[in-house]
This record gives sequence, structure tokens and C-alpha cells, in this order.
Amino acid sequence: MDISPLINDLNKPQRDAVGLPAQSALILAGAGSGKTRVLVHRIAWLIEVEQLSPFSILAVTFTNKAAAEMRGRIQALLGVPIGGAWVGTFHGLAHRLLRMHWREAGLPQTFQILDAEDQIRMIKRVLRALELDEALWQPRQVAYFINNAKDAGSRPQHIEDKGDFSITQMTRIYAAYEEACQRNGVVDFAELLLRSLELLRDNLELQAHYRARFRHILVDEFQDTNALQYAWLRLLAGEQNSVFAVGDDDQSIYGWRGAKIENIRNFTQDFKNCAVIRLEQNYRSTGNILQAANTLIAHNRGRMGKNLWTDDAEGELIQLYAAYNEGDEARYVAAQIEQWLAKGGTRSEIAVLYRSNAQSRVFESTFNERRIPYRVYGGLRFFERAEIKDALAYLRLVTNRLDDASFERIVNHPPRGIGERTVDALRIYARSTGKSLWEAAQESEQLGELSSRATGAIKRFLQLIELMGNDIAPLPLAEQVEIVIELAALKEHFKAKEPGEAGQARTDNLDELITAAHSYSYVRQEDMPEMEPLSAFLAHATLEAGEGQGEQGDDCVQMMTLHSAKGLEFPLVFLCGLEEGLFPHQMSADDPARLEEERRLCYVGITRAERQLILTYAEQRLLHGSTRFNPISRFIRELPEGLIHEVRPKVKAYASRGVATASKSMLPQAAAEGYRVGQRVRHAKFGEGVITNAEGSGQSARVQVSFRKEGSKWLVLGYANLEII
Ligand code: ATP
Ligand code: MG
Repeated sequence: MDISPLINDLNKPQRDAVGLPAQSALILAGAGSGKTRVLVHRIAWLIEVEQLSPFSILAVTFTNKAAAEMRGRIQALLGVPIGGAWVGTFHGLAHRLLRMHWREAGLPQTFQILDAEDQIRMIKRVLRALELDEALWQPRQVAYFINNAKDAGSRPQHIEDKGDFSITQMTRIYAAYEEACQRNGVVDFAELLLRSLELLRDNLELQAHYRARFRHILVDEFQDTNALQYAWLRLLAGEQNSVFAVGDDDQSIYGWRGAKIENIRNFTQDFKNCAVIRLEQNYRSTGNILQAANTLIAHNRGRMGKNLWTDDAEGELIQLYAAYNEGDEARYVAAQIEQWLAKGGTRSEIAVLYRSNAQSRVFESTFNERRIPYRVYGGLRFFERAEIKDALAYLRLVTNRLDDASFERIVNHPPRGIGERTVDALRIYARSTGKSLWEAAQESEQLGELSSRATGAIKRFLQLIELMGNDIAPLPLAEQVEIVIELAALKEHFKAKEPGEAGQARTDNLDELITAAHSYSYVRQEDMPEMEPLSAFLAHATLEAGEGQGEQGDDCVQMMTLHSAKGLEFPLVFLCGLEEGLFPHQMSADDPARLEEERRLCYVGITRAERQLILTYAEQRLLHGSTRFNPISRFIRELPEGLIHEVRPKVKAYASRGVATASKSMLPQAAAEGYRVGQRVRHAKFGEGVITNAEGSGQSARVQVSFRKEGSKWLVLGYANLEII
């Protein structure tokens, strides 16, 4: 048999790893060193060389996308399908076990899975049945408690309250929730894993069967497994089977979700005769990119320590662009993309990475304008997010009372005591009389069948929408949006409903909608001047939601958060929004452990790049509805200066990287930028004008501009965002 294709394109330690005898192994190696490649080759080797049946193989990766790719790569190596092997995510494989053994697992054959939203709805029903107040026992917090308990392997009877009333109560809710799920034949995400773990633990026949079957268990991205997943692996492996884990402690980025780096440290003790292999050659990135990544991650303490090198050329310098603001950042990225394409590159070679989902909006609208097809991974496109759709529904109903879908969406959202039954009555009435829901609501008292409480609640809802309509008509667009969000109390609603990061993300997105309206009123198309700004904006939102998103396989620019970029690689990578508070995220600023996790996330981002890496930050950023002037991210300062090419010297001295430029005066720099007396400029609000005077330096450098319509004004250069024309 010719095994050369299986090992020829591997280096020595990779080959050692692939050809290990049947034993457990930990492949601990840095980014781009071929871990995933080794894992795939190992599976092919087991089947082709060791002549094992694919049935004896179980491989776990982090996402469905990665699993599909792994399958494809193994089949490409072998030239035949690997039908019998189990390749999937932890949740996917656990689900598969439960489907096959539903009876033993105590589930109905038709059991369904609850997603996060369904889970909350279920918890609410349970709270109602227990007559507990949602304000005191917030469903999101209950969900957090339950999921945490399950991830730790605890059922209600295992939880010790230690006399803490709130734990006693939470545990009681947990138990009732479990009962309700069981009655309804549904399982949540965490339950999939816990239930299948218990199935294998308690059913010795099944346990023996699967242990005899899965002789080889392989795990990619091992650094991000949590306690329950680790226990699941150990149980399935038993004493006999081999577990082949590949991972990188420097890429552990899910600590906030319970992933445990300690799993790597414990691995060699928990699995006997464990081989440890380190891979040190990076095949992905140029020398400069790799050196930047190595230097950055060296700032973390307590690493397992790795030495990563490449014999690739140094390659191009890393570009650093200091944008004036987020719009400038997006335009720069778009221009660089166009250059890449002009030089013969393709769009699918390009990734735009950012820390938080809300950053995607400005890129999306710039790419739409420039007709650059893109695809946003993981996370909805901005205008499709639930909270944005909520706010838009209010605005729609304000502009058009006949919009039944918007009516339905918000009539009891946030909850205002208009129950499903009431809405049903309105629906029936509207349908039989051919009226809109709004009109039906206006006539609700004549329906006869509704309680006075219900009709009172409906009346208050109608008044709220009327009030919004009257109040906002004369105001500028952004204020209209802001006031509607405020009157609807959407932010308070989400803050109460989803404490912590999730709720914060939603309120941030609502603020970002205000920002969107704000910029929209400046760029408003001249081609529809007769449309009310609000209607025009709503149309824009609808159109933009359905546009520009390429299908998989299309040649699109890839946009995603850093978390979703794990394991992937792209010739050209943009890492955007490198500002303190944004990245590292402000929620991590005071916690050294979380700060290190942010740094690992940055390391993940940098190491996605193969040939070119472009970093950007904005000196001023309108995000979540307010303008921030955050200093440049510490992660940039931690990179070796010699590797970085600064594309545009920054205008604001305090935002600069080095001390060297910090004391330079503002005006010569400004002059170099083209801000000199006599220069024509454009201001977003005041329009076109000419610079007539200049004074001050540093942060307070100012210019006087004589505007055509607005007359003469002094403006601070750092804030005014003047465009040179
Ligand atoms: P990450 O930590 O980001 O998941 P990884 O360690 O899994 O990275 P891979 O994705 O397996 O790394 O490999 C990185 C790139 O290097 C891939 O394009 C892979 O095909 C290539 N590569 C790995 N090993 C070799 C080799 N021996 N010869 C040529 N190319 C290689
Ligand atoms: Mg990998």
C-alpha cells in the first residue's frame, strides 16, 4: 500500500503524531502549525494504514462548519466516504446518542430541542406556575443558573444551598423546569450533553458498547472544552481507548462560557501513557505576521510556552491605519479591498474581523455603497436583529397604522398586559370586518368579549403610538428614533430581561440604530427628497437587510467576530476597531484574567492572516449612540514597532502610539494633512466652506471655517471631522 500521500506533506513531528501507536496524545501547538491538518491525517492514517474501521472513530470539533470541512478533508485524502465515523460537535454527537437511545435516556422518541429563546419562554411558564415574580426571579438569570448547574453536571438534588435562600429558590425553579421539560418532551442545549453523559454513565451495557466501538476519539480546539465536555470524553474513553487532543492554550477564548484551560494541564495525568507532541513550525503566515503574534502573546503570564517559527519570507509589513472615525475606517478597508481585487486577488480571500457584532453595521453599509459583496458570519446582520426589528416596528407603526405585522410584533412587547387571547380576539374581529388590527384595537370596546382590563391596556397602547407620532414629527430623524426607543422603554425592557452581556449587547445595538439614523440624515439620497426622512430611513433599513449578502460559495468578503474566526485562515485579514474599551473590551479592563483572554483573542485574530494583515483604529468612534475618543488599543502598543507601517500619521496627538509624536504641535501636522488656510472643506452638518484661520496645537488645534450657508465657525480639528474637497 502506498502511504506516501498521507505523510509526504507533513514535517517530522507532524508525522510522528499522525503515526503514533494506539495511545492517547496531546498535540500542543501554536496557531497555524498544522494541528487540524494532523488530526485529519491521523484519521486517514488509522483507516488506511492501521486498517481500522471508520466505525471506530469519533471526532469532535467546535462548529458544524469545521466538522463538515473535516469530513470533506478526510474523504479527499482517502478517496472514499467515511460513512461510519462520527464527526461533529459535542452537541451534535450528544444529540445523536440521545436520538438512538431515547428510550434508555428516558425521552419520548419525538423529543425536541429548545433553543435559548425557547428556554426562556419555558422558564417563564414555570415561574407563572410557581407563582413567582419575574421581576425577582429574572428568567435570564434562572437560565444562567440552570445552564451553569448542568454544565457542572449537577441536577437539582445535587445542589447544596448552604442555607442561602436564593439558591434554595433557584433550585426549586430548576426542579420545576426539569419536570416541565420532561412533560413537554423537550431538552435544552446543556441537557443534551448532561443527559447523554448520564446515559453512558448509568447504562453499563451502552457504556460497554460505545467504549468497545470508539477506540479512537479525536478532539480539535481542545483548549475550549468545558468541564462537562471533558467528563463526557473521559467517560467515553474509559481506560482502554485513546484520545487524541489537539489544542493551543494561547487560543483559549471561551473562558467566559466555562471553558477550562486546566483541561489541557490535567490531560496528561487523566489519560495514561499520554504522548505529548509539540509542533513549532507555522505554515500559515509570513514571518512578520508570526513575529507580531509571538510578541503579543508573550505579554501573557502562565502560558505553557511555545516556540513558533516559520521559514516563510518576512513578507509585507503590518499596516496600521489611524482612521478619523468609524466611517473613515470602513472606507479605508473598502479601498484596500478594491486594491487587492485590482491586483488579481479574490473577495473570498479577505476577512474583516472585529470584536463586537455592532461594528459590522458601518462596514455593511459602506460595502453596499461600494458594491462589494460580503457575508456576515455568526450573528445576524444588523437590521435583522430582533431588538432592531422591534424598534423599527414601532417606527413603522408610527408611520403607518395599517402595518399589522408591526402591530403584532409590539402590541405586547415590552409586556403591557395584552395577552395572546386578547390579540386573538382582535385578529378575528379584524379578519371578519376587513379592518386592520389598529382599527380593531380602536373598536375593541365594541367587541364585547374583552375584559375592561384588556381594553384599558389596548387603549394605552394606542395612545402610546399616537403620542410617539405627535411628539416626533417636527424633530430630526435621529431624535425621532431615539425618542421612540425611549417611549417604548425597549432598553429598560432588555436590561431587565437579559442581565449581563446579552442585554447590554441589545441596548448597544439600539443605540447603534440611533447612530445609523444620525449618519443617514447626512448621507440621505438626493433622489427621494419628497419622502419623509423617517419613511426613507425605514425603506433603507428594509432594503439593506436583504441586500449584498452572498450565498455560501459565492465570492464574498467574509465578515465575522474574532470568536467566530477561530481555526480559519485568509490571505488578507483586517483587524478593526483596535481601541481601548472596544478591544480589549471594557468589561475586561479591570480583570487581569479576562484581559489575558482578550489578548489571546487578539492573537487568534492576528494568526488568521496568511500574507497581509491590516490593523485599524478610529480616533473618534460613534458607537452605541455616543461618540468615544478611546486611545489606541494596548495590543497595538505591544507589537514590535519595526514591523508596523503606519499608513496615515494620526491627527490627534493624544491618540498616537509613541511618545515621540505626542508632543508635536498639531498645526504643522494638520497642514500636512491639507488643513491650511484657503483649503475648501466639507462638514457633515454645516456643508461646504473655506478655512480662513487656524490656531492652537495638539488636542486643541482649531480652524475657522467660513461656511457657505452657516457663516463662520471655529471648529476643533480633532472632533470636527472635516473632509477636504
Ligand atoms: P489553528 O491553531 O489556527 O487552528 P492549526 O494548527 O490547526 O491552526 P492548520 O489549519 O492545520 O493549523 O494548518 C495551517 C495551514 O498550514 C494550513 O493551510 C495547512 O494546510 C498548512 N500546513 C500545515 N502543515 C503543513 C505542512 N507540513 N506542509 C505544508 N503546509 C502545511
Ligand atoms: Mg486548527
